[in-house]
Amino acid sequence: MAKRMKTVLFDLDETLIDRSASLSNFALWQASGMLRREVTDPDLFCSRFVDLDANGGVLKNEVYSKLIDEFGIGDWSESELTKCYDLCFSGFCEPKRGVVGAVSELKSLGFKLGVVSNGRTPFQERNFYALGISAHFDAIVVSEAVGFRKPGREIFDIALEETGAKAEETVFVGDNPVADIDGANACGMYTVYVPGHYGETYEAANAICTSYDNLTALVLDAT
Ligand SMILES: [Mg+2]
Repeated sequence: MAKRMKTVLFDLDETLIDRSASLSNFALWQASGMLRREVTDPDLFCSRFVDLDANGGVLKNEVYSKLIDEFGIGDWSESELTKCYDLCFSGFCEPKRGVVGAVSELKSLGFKLGVVSNGRTPFQERNFYALGISAHFDAIVVSEAVGFRKPGREIFDIALEETGAKAEETVFVGDNPVADIDGANACGMYTVYVPGHYGETYEAANAICTSYDNLTALVLDAT
């Protein structure tokens, strides 16, 4: 039986990127480096950073403003610390477990691949390139660059256009129930939910990807 799906689109944060691990790695480096004279407990700084970040829901300058107060930081301003984050975070970006294998397997099976991310440009592009898998991808669409955000239809349409895909032949993989799953469902794509901060399951998704080792099978089974 010929495979029905031809294209697989991915969200970036907590779908391709292990953002939690990447953020912890970055925060530890920042605490032990530029903040080493002022932060005596890098692990505590790291855990406060991750808490205040609220899975990316809080602007970084607000996170740093609180960290400056809590840790009595005087050498660096919130804008200097934020600039360091913007420039250096990509150096700490790690793919989620199994992503590299799944992506190269899908590519070798002839699928077109794309990324659709709500976020800033060129920050998100840099983070994506840092994963080392971009050679397999045909499109990277970042909301700030195109002026539209998920779950709105426009950004999904741009990704379809860039990959030359039809919605009904496209699988969307993401961890955000509303932005990723509801948005892609509304466009007529087959949706795969990645469990994480938003819960273990999401009923509106067509399938749940509990391990990237199973993603290719899910995509090949999609109808
Ligand atoms: Mg995400």
